[in-house]
Amino acid sequence: MSRRTDRVQRKVRVPSNLGKKNSKKKVEKQGEIPCGISSCDGFSDKHMGGRSLSQENAIDTWGEGGFSVRKNRVRVCKNCYKAWKKDNKDDNSTRY
Ligand SMILES: [Zn+2]
Repeated sequence: MSRRTDRVQRKVRVPSNLGKKNSKKKVEKQGEIPCGISSCDGFSDKHMGGRSLSQENAIDTWGEGGFSVRKNRVRVCKNCYKAWKKDNKDDNSTRY
């Protein structure tokens, strides 16, 4: 009577790999439109926060020839846009 199926059931409960969550499924967002700034190799895709500036705006920050123009606009990545914004804050005398 002492023979129970407990043992068998225990054997079935093999601890599964708990470290399985660490799978390499990290899909990085891949850009398609390269940043227009020559010295930058980022992407200016919209889903990556990219923006487009006018040529005049781009010249102010990166100088003539420091970027490539695309349909009269300069596509910049998120970081470059930030840099440009920062650069142009000084010009605007609007104070908070
Ligand atoms: Zn950039």
